[in-house]
Amino acid sequence: MAKRYNDTIALEEGHRVAVVGGGPAGSLFSYFLLLFSNRFDRNIHVDIYEPRDFEHPGPAGCNMCGGIISESLVQALAVEGINLPDSVVQRGIESYVLHTEAGSCCINTPIGEKRIAAVHRGGGPRTGQQAKWQSFDAHLLKLAIAEGAHRHTARVSEIGWYGDKPQVKVKGKPPETYELLVGAVGMNSPDLSLFEKLGFEYQRPKQTKTYITELPLGEQLISSQFGDAMHLFLLDIPRLEFAAMIPKGDYVTTCLLGENIDRDLISSFFRHPAVRKCLPADWEPPANICHCSPKMFFGNSLNPFTDRVVLVGDAAVARLFKDGIGAAYRTAKAAARTAVFQGVSAADFRAHYWPQCQSIMHDNLFGRVIFEVVHRIKEMRIPASAVLRTIGAEEQRPGNSRRMSMVLWDTFTGSAPYKDIFMRTLHPSFIVPFIARNIVSALRSNWPSKEVSAARASQTQSTTHIEMGEIQ
Ligand SMILES: Cc1cc2nc3c(=O)[nH]c(=O)nc-3n(C[C@H](O)[C@H](O)[C@H](O)COP(=O)(O)OP(=O)(O)OC[C@H]3O[C@@H](n4cnc5c(N)ncnc54)[C@H](O)[C@@H]3O)c2cc1C
Repeated sequence: MAKRYNDTIALEEGHRVAVVGGGPAGSLFSYFLLLFSNRFDRNIHVDIYEPRDFEHPGPAGCNMCGGIISESLVQALAVEGINLPDSVVQRGIESYVLHTEAGSCCINTPIGEKRIAAVHRGGGPRTGQQAKWQSFDAHLLKLAIAEGAHRHTARVSEIGWYGDKPQVKVKGKPPETYELLVGAVGMNSPDLSLFEKLGFEYQRPKQTKTYITELPLGEQLISSQFGDAMHLFLLDIPRLEFAAMIPKGDYVTTCLLGENIDRDLISSFFRHPAVRKCLPADWEPPANICHCSPKMFFGNSLNPFTDRVVLVGDAAVARLFKDGIGAAYRTAKAAARTAVFQGVSAADFRAHYWPQCQSIMHDNLFGRVIFEVVHRIKEMRIPASAVLRTIGAEEQRPGNSRRMSMVLWDTFTGSAPYKDIFMRTLHPSFIVPFIARNIVSALRSNWPSKEVSAARASQTQSTTHIEMGEIQ
């Protein structure tokens, strides 16, 4: 049934809210809604529907992600009083190694106190023996429950209207009617279509397919080989945009982003010399390696709200390629604040929630420009080599004057808004030395060098075929 837009509809004492999805967006929405309403002694009943057991190892308990919690999110959560315990943080990432066709270099956190956290979203990979660490998603869900939310271990199979109120149904149970319905189903749920069919012209965001695998290298080897550094690969492999290896407890989470990621692309990546260098010489992936091909946010949704319904997190808007959990936090909090302090009509969400979504969408435009430039640089040896030279020259300088290092750190850890990063690249002290180093690199270049040509030839002729599982 198509809905009429009201000016304001208040969430009042005793009202009921259904949150479909207990990932970061759903849990944080519930947490903030209850936190804000409890402050006013307004008793709101919140039901979170989430079928996954986040403490279960393997895909059944996992929300498929690189598991990097950006610096800005770690700080924002700390300000909210949400500190990630050591049992959730698998590793604090303090540097990253950038690999390009022109060579590799290490970028340390440009400013000493910059830290990012690596977590497992679920109970760890399916080959995990025993959960040594806690799941990030389970931690957030428990916070919402501690604030008063009721968790239902069930998948919502139908949603509809009862008069002007939304209704939610799980299999085998009668429908439940609510004053507010929150869609936090993420990017990978077929149930986004339930919201598309609800009659308010919501359209899911554009998506791109990715690949994740968990390399079981063991804690000792990971500590000696990777330490607290994640590895980022900007390699000239057709259809590969970029890849990252993120060390955690016993596993290195490896994420590939690109176009039509298939077995050939995965094989090319894992037999690239820069990648082989990061792995033990004789290492071969086990047959039952944990892997998945989740979808990632790539473009905006349409109309993520109407009277008494709002979508948050990936189902509404996320940051391009990075810090999706940070966007889930921001949209969830903005929607909860609107619901408690303004109301739950379309007009309320348009005035008070939509601006938060728009600011992320607007920032993503700068992100697209940045990633387009990165894409071009990765294909060309001279600018890639100029980037490495600039980082090398910056190494001994104080944090704030390490402009290239900070730009790359913030771009690939998702720790700053893309607009900020873009503006920093326009500063003369960023551009002038970079142009100068491009000139030096061009003068010194002998592209394609004999070594690189030889490496490429051996790469394509290599008979090593690394199988990293079927694409799902
Ligand atoms: C390859 C890859 C790497 C990434 N790496 C990072 C990273 O390092 N850092 C980062 O910040 N972000 C990263 N992201 C993005 C991040 O995963 C998402 O932005 C984030 O998970 C969005 O949170 P969410 O709560 O909106 O959705 P999700 O985390 O997808 O949660 C949705 C929840 O809804 C539940 N659900 C679905 N349908 C129903 C239903 N019908 N009934 C009840 N429950 C339902 C699901 O079980 C799930 O728990 C990555 C994404 C990909 C694909």
